[in-house]
Amino acid sequence: MRKGLVAANWKMNGLRQSNATLIDVLKAGLKSSPNVEVLVCPPAVYLEQVGAELDGSLVMLGAQNLHPQQSGAFTGELSAEMLKDIGCSHVIIGHSERRQLFGEENSFIAEKFTAAQRSGLIPILCVGETQEQREAVETEAVVLDQLEAVLVHAGIEAFNNAVIAYEPVWAIGTGLTATPEQAQVVHALIRGKLAEANTAVAESTRILYGGSVKGSNAAELFAKPDIDGGLVGGASLVAEGFLSICNSYSE
Ligand code: PEP
Repeated sequence: MRKGLVAANWKMNGLRQSNATLIDVLKAGLKSSPNVEVLVCPPAVYLEQVGAELDGSLVMLGAQNLHPQQSGAFTGELSAEMLKDIGCSHVIIGHSERRQLFGEENSFIAEKFTAAQRSGLIPILCVGETQEQREAVETEAVVLDQLEAVLVHAGIEAFNNAVIAYEPVWAIGTGLTATPEQAQVVHALIRGKLAEANTAVAESTRILYGGSVKGSNAAELFAKPDIDGGLVGGASLVAEGFLSICNSYSE
């Protein structure tokens, strides 16, 4: 039985004051459940603040990005070692905004994936197709390609310490959500691909859904057999909304 994971991707949002309020309300409102873990990924500049606010709670701390090199002349970048040093347990890799806005390609994302694991971080590998790709019936090919790049680079065993997030790009921040059935088809495809290499790893790897998850649709999505939680953007910025997503697991 896979434990659920609900991860908040704050993206480039938040300030010290609003972060503190959001975390306070989260800590007070989260129902403890053996079925789900909760992770918050604030902007890098606030990792230390949010880490301190989360101290003593069960909520974990994650980063939104890293650079694959350990140190050196990479102005403005952060290494996996630094993120681990500051208290992160997870890091988001290959988010569609990084792929689209910053030109990150599969090979670079695969390097980030192994760099994260080398420093003891759990990568959350995001995959997903655009609207045009879905319309051109390329969803399967695109998602498998994105997954394959990391599988070839890191090997199947690496997925023992990784999370995958299926995030259809057309559903991110748009208010459009994949139906639970649409999402389940792709989640099963991803798990099937892992199973071709190792069925035990495939069975234990958590695959999150991301794309306009909110309190009103979370329970239905999470009820699908291959959906093991959510990566939540917009709705994670409002404490009540994020709480109702997390708490939909304990109900
Ligand atoms: C995301 O950015 O990972 C995401 C899923 O965003 P939203 O929930 O706002 O669609």
